[in-house]
Amino acid sequence: MESMKQNKRLTVVVPCYNEEEVLPETVRELTQIMDTLIENKQIDEQSRLLFVNDGSSDRTWELIEKYSSEAPRVTGLKFSRNFGHQDALLAGMTVAMEYSDMIITIDADLQDDVNAIPKMVAEYHNGYDVVYGVRNNRDTDTAFKRKSAMAFYGLMHRLGVDMVPNSADYRLLSQRATKGLLAFKERNLFLRGMVPLVGFPSTKVYYARKERFAGTSKYPLKKMIKFAFDGITSFSTVPIRLIMNLGILLVVVGFGLFIYTLIQTMRGAVITGWASLMTSMWVIGGVQLICISVIGEYIGKIFIEVKQRPRYTIEEETYTGSFTEAGKS
Ligand code: UDP
Ligand code: MG
Repeated sequence: MESMKQNKRLTVVVPCYNEEEVLPETVRELTQIMDTLIENKQIDEQSRLLFVNDGSSDRTWELIEKYSSEAPRVTGLKFSRNFGHQDALLAGMTVAMEYSDMIITIDADLQDDVNAIPKMVAEYHNGYDVVYGVRNNRDTDTAFKRKSAMAFYGLMHRLGVDMVPNSADYRLLSQRATKGLLAFKERNLFLRGMVPLVGFPSTKVYYARKERFAGTSKYPLKKMIKFAFDGITSFSTVPIRLIMNLGILLVVVGFGLFIYTLIQTMRGAVITGWASLMTSMWVIGGVQLICISVIGEYIGKIFIEVKQRPRYTIEEETYTGSFTEAGKS
């Protein structure tokens, strides 16, 4: 049993966008956690950290390169420009999959408690393919972010998207679960919605989410709204169906008004109605434009998907499968 555990190789994938301020501490903490796991024979000594530099404009890549040459466990991957958090995670998993029995994805800013990693690994050894990191507090968030996150999970649930509430992109995937996830070929990535679709036995590990160690959030409100909206339209066609319901409602109301007008006219009443006519024209005109734009959003998504553009471009890479010699030296 022990020796079986020992042969399980872990890769921790860390997306980094302008994280020079936290990187030294992140490397230190993750290396320490990994060393302990290796000592306890929970993971193979060939296990690695894989930092994905997502087109940082600061010294992030220089640091990753420096650590890659100094620290035996650190490896790096460099994008040719900024592609986004989700694509960075995907690239890391793609590169690491072949050589890893399990992959953990974690943010670079140490908001996700690294002490959940040993728990995730333990659950992997218990036979789980997917281990979600679930935050058990939202103290560090503003009331607005808490409320909007709750509303978002509720909405997604009603739209039929099965997400694990309060789980972000901190999770462990076994090799076969990673393979399953990477078989999803969509360009519009919303990993936290996709992972449950892969299936396999899954469980949760709870952790306390902390403040950012240093640096600033790369997810301002505008980006968050776009991310949420993308999540909805990438996973559900319910909004299109809502348009039909709205249409039926308007037709019924319109028909009722038509009957009413007919009866009034037959009674000889003169109906004045410039104001009501103008108001309903503007309202219905607006509703129509909104509906068209919702459909347009889906067509836009199709347009992006059919182009099949690469999801990212790698400029440099220090992660290889032939660790054996290097690792032993
Ligand atoms: N990130 C990235 N590319 C981006 C934006 C962010 O790789 O375009 C990384 C970032 O370095 C961090 C993680 O994604 O490791 C989460 O970002 P951040 O901490 O800024 O988001 P928040 O925790 O505020 O939601
Ligand atoms: Mg963060």
